[in-house]
Amino acid sequence: MTETTTRPAAIDRLYVLNAGIAVAPDRSVYSPGRWQGEPVTLTCNAYLIRRAGEWILWDTGIDDAVAAESGGRVIAHNIRGIVVRTIACQLADIGIAPADVSRVILSHAHFDHVGNAKLFRHATWHIQRREYDAMFGPDYQQYGYAPELYADLKQARVELMDGDCDPFGDGAIKVISTPGHTLGHCSLLVRLAKTGPVLLSGDVAHDSYNMEHRCVPTMNADAEATRQSMARVDALVREERAQLWLNHDTVQTATIPHAPAYFD
Ligand SMILES: [Zn+2]
Repeated sequence: MTETTTRPAAIDRLYVLNAGIAVAPDRSVYSPGRWQGEPVTLTCNAYLIRRAGEWILWDTGIDDAVAAESGGRVIAHNIRGIVVRTIACQLADIGIAPADVSRVILSHAHFDHVGNAKLFRHATWHIQRREYDAMFGPDYQQYGYAPELYADLKQARVELMDGDCDPFGDGAIKVISTPGHTLGHCSLLVRLAKTGPVLLSGDVAHDSYNMEHRCVPTMNADAEATRQSMARVDALVREERAQLWLNHDTVQTATIPHAPAYFD
């Protein structure tokens, strides 16, 4: 057996994109019983993957159009979205256009993750079936979705996923089912040759305090499933010796180099 067959498959590059800022008026929404009435600022990230000549996006951030509005815009859940630098500009810094992204894998459909769906309507979208059904079902408001942001996805190529999945069949990118925050919420495990495995956990927890203390945000669709997903993420991080990147953790985000820098 040659060395290459024993080494796990890896993606080529991982770029972290600044996907905007979310300002919420009451931090206790994310950690019930603590920080009542205190405003909180959450960083948002999207992640660009280069794999075998293909550009793949994990989430799309807050709508680029918000960049034109000084002070941002209250979009959903009483949360204000602010865009400092658009996703399109950050792709241009890397030397690509939105049209070069051929696939988007979606953690879930809240505005800070699906906001730029129309920029990538030509791409193939990988969405959990339970998430897709909630996005286009009658109860979208109850889940805090803003359907105008993803109306274009009705015409897009969508590959529906049912739980865990390995979309390229080589283990370099694994979709991990982590429901609770929304019904079809999922996380992404990516493998890099030098950096090693990184678990992009979406909104399983909004920051490390909430992860550690198993805080379930009041907006979550299923509290028990949220706690189970947190436990699953913890176990997977240990088992894979992976780095855990929490999308909205402002302190951690400040320590992770963003595009055009990349991980390989
Ligand atoms: Zn989010």
